[in-house]
Amino acid sequence: MEIRDVPCPFCGCLCDDISVRLDDNRILGVENCCTLGNAKFLSKGRLQHPIMRKNGKWVEVSYEEAIDETARILSDAVRPLLYGWSGTVGEAQVVGVHLGEEIGALIDSTTSVCHNPSILAIQEVGHPGCTLGQVKNRADLVIYWGCNPIEAHPRHMSRYTTYADGYFIDNTVTDRKVIVVDIRRSEGAKVADEFIQIKPGGDYLVLSALRAMVRGRDDVVPDSVAGVKKEQLQRVASLMQKAKFGAVFFGLGITMSRGKYKNVRNAIELVSELNRKTKFTISAMRGHFNVYGFNEVLTWMAGYPFAVDFSRGIAFYNPGETTVIDLLERKEPDACLVIASDPGAHFPKSTIEHMAAIPTVQIDPCVNATTALCQVQIPVAITGIEAAGTAYRMDGVPIRMKKIIETNFPTDQEILERIVTRIREMKRDG
Ligand code: SF4
Repeated sequence: MEIRDVPCPFCGCLCDDISVRLDDNRILGVENCCTLGNAKFLSKGRLQHPIMRKNGKWVEVSYEEAIDETARILSDAVRPLLYGWSGTVGEAQVVGVHLGEEIGALIDSTTSVCHNPSILAIQEVGHPGCTLGQVKNRADLVIYWGCNPIEAHPRHMSRYTTYADGYFIDNTVTDRKVIVVDIRRSEGAKVADEFIQIKPGGDYLVLSALRAMVRGRDDVVPDSVAGVKKEQLQRVASLMQKAKFGAVFFGLGITMSRGKYKNVRNAIELVSELNRKTKFTISAMRGHFNVYGFNEVLTWMAGYPFAVDFSRGIAFYNPGETTVIDLLERKEPDACLVIASDPGAHFPKSTIEHMAAIPTVQIDPCVNATTALCQVQIPVAITGIEAAGTAYRMDGVPIRMKKIIETNFPTDQEILERIVTRIREMKRDG
């Protein structure tokens, strides 16, 4: 049996043209997927039962016992932290926000350590964005800045830019130019028409120089800016102004380097400047397949897109104070629930040490680096393969994730609902 048009539950491209061959409720093969998506669809290793540490050893426990223990840990905590959320669907994220309100937790997602500065910049100066479909069909100039789509979003170029023909782009090779701006010649830079290599930390300066040039003030730009020759910047500024439709995609090379949200703000203001002369858009290359969705869900429910603290009985948002790394650096949380992410593999050492020192529970189908920090791990169905729901693509377009395999594992949503119910029972029973 073949199921077509399955969305891939890996990265923010959410490619929804995947074909999956099945036999006897097992995936035999996948078509149209990149290697990252392929690995997810075909992965085999998973945790079969909830596990809990008892006397320093992992033991298998029932779902009921694992949920009871999680509810107890979260109920007893004075400063609980709920973190992750980007690899699950909106329906589960909604329950997560209710849980946060119920126990007065701080809830944050992987946004905090990736595109948090992009959101801060957008809150200040707006977002001249567009859908990926618009880029595919119209963009004659695409700029990748501080990102490497070939390795992080492997089908971005083939579906939407470098290798994709569009409605108004008959031949992508001749009709579309691609520029890569980065500190090193990445794989993406090798297939671009032009590569701008800037010195680390020089993004803000180069963006400012381009803004000056688009304003017609070449005279204020020195001969070299962050290692880039003035002639190259003039050529690129000219290409930008001549484009009929330009699209900038940016990644962590801007958001997590010197300047942080000021870099993104400067990039947005460059795009606004260009919109006085032609049509230009800018979009973030979002990582996890539903990191955008969590920002949407939390905004609908609490008014803010990430790092919301419910401990005051209201939604309080102050990035730099209520962001997960800051909270863990201050060693504030006394319990933590991790879901649909793997902070153990990415967070700074001091924050991981604190997570290991407090009761930490993980909801995840697989053993990962975070497992080593946990007291309890609860395995669940794999979202987008064994569980359906809604996810938001990196351009904000909602996509319905499919359930293509039957499973006995509960979904993220079911586990979270059971935890909320148990906490309410504990409160009621005193
Ligand atoms: Fe999946 Fe991303 Fe690869 Fe598309 S580019 S197939 S969404 S991992």
